[in-house]
Amino acid sequence: MSKIQMKTPLVEMDGDEMTRIIWKQVKDILILPYVDLKTEYYDLGLKNREATKDQITIDSAEATKKYGVAVKCATITPNAARMPEYNLTQMWKSPNGTIRAALDGTVFRAPILVKGVTPFIPTWTKPITIARHAYGDVYKNTEMVVEGGSKAELVVTKPDGTKETSLIHEFKGDGIIQGLHNLDSSISSFARACFNFGLDTKQDVWFSTKDTISKKYDHRFKDIFAEIYENEYKEKFEAAGITYFYTLIDDAVARVIRSNGGYIWACKNYDGDVMSDMVATAYGSLAMMTSVLVSPDGVYEYEAAHGTVQRHYYKYLKGEETSTNSVATLFAWTGALRKRGELDELPELMSFADKLEKAIIQTIENGTMTGDLYLISTLENKKKVNTTEFLEAVGETLKTLL
Ligand code: NAP
Ligand code: MG
Repeated sequence: MSKIQMKTPLVEMDGDEMTRIIWKQVKDILILPYVDLKTEYYDLGLKNREATKDQITIDSAEATKKYGVAVKCATITPNAARMPEYNLTQMWKSPNGTIRAALDGTVFRAPILVKGVTPFIPTWTKPITIARHAYGDVYKNTEMVVEGGSKAELVVTKPDGTKETSLIHEFKGDGIIQGLHNLDSSISSFARACFNFGLDTKQDVWFSTKDTISKKYDHRFKDIFAEIYENEYKEKFEAAGITYFYTLIDDAVARVIRSNGGYIWACKNYDGDVMSDMVATAYGSLAMMTSVLVSPDGVYEYEAAHGTVQRHYYKYLKGEETSTNSVATLFAWTGALRKRGELDELPELMSFADKLEKAIIQTIENGTMTGDLYLISTLENKKKVNTTEFLEAVGETLKTLL
């Protein structure tokens, strides 16, 4: 069988720990035998980020803008414990944060539903897609530790040189402050990305913030969404039979739990981070979630929503058997290959991505799964396999579909 040909390279961003091990196996076992894979490779592993002073992350984001489609492995965001572990000269920023800031996009995360894994919320019969704004707020903050007796003010120097000052707090004792920002342009593209995704997938769009408390900051998000909806999307939504619905974040949380799913929940950056982990876990596993960053100018970055699975990696290093779920990493690859196929008009590549996804689901529904799913699957004849065995089993299923 001849291999499927590609035209434009994918931007490939390698990562860290267990997901880096999985990354190579996914390619070796499930992609390279079938696809004449063209990628431009960027090693975002922490070792190389240190060696390049994080330039590699910036380069990979620029390459993504150039080629339009990237696939990213999970990466370590360094904390204090990583400094001695990797001999770091700096606590490098989160690569995801850097890439998201460069692409200014919205991250869409949807659960991958399989038979045998029932959501913890029994009414959730349809997927809930989280649309996470990927720019600003606490991810681009400025923080200070403040000594008692200090006065903290917010100062803005305007284009004409005049200053607007607002008191934050007069500190009697020691404390902390934080400065956040966002941009009308970024919030507008977030709104359009959500409304477009709603129209594409024929799902209602919900949006929630805390505008009753944050009367200027969060309120701005609410107003921009409302204005763009009224002016650009209302008629299209009505024609498609879908709705846009705004509510407070706490009310949204309560409604989501009581819902049946089947809508897009647009969340500010931090809310989206937290809520996507909650939603993914409630649907079964963090590893059963797709995640794609869509930029306003049509650039796509596919990734897994979970981290580098450090605990499993340390077992792997000790030579112990691991049973790490590779589904989210696999779906990052299938999403990227399908999008590349769509943009380059390569139906064979798109169909390969569809079949690989089908093979993954079928393998799990036929009872072969990793430990995380084995614990929660209600299938009777289920079998727990290790990291590599799972990929090999998917490979066997894939052969029957090709
Ligand atoms: P994590 O890698 O998501 O893993 C947390 C726990 O969730 C694991 O210990 C495991 O539970 C379970 N888990 C996650 N993914 C799994 C999978 N594919 N298969 C099976 N179980 C899975 O989070 P973490 O351990 O807190 O973070 C590790 C590193 O990842 C950190 O350095 C962090 O900075 C980084 N991180 C990166 C990204 C990203 O690049 N997108 C996102 C989040 C975190 P059990 O141990 O109970 O089996
Ligand atoms: Mg997170």
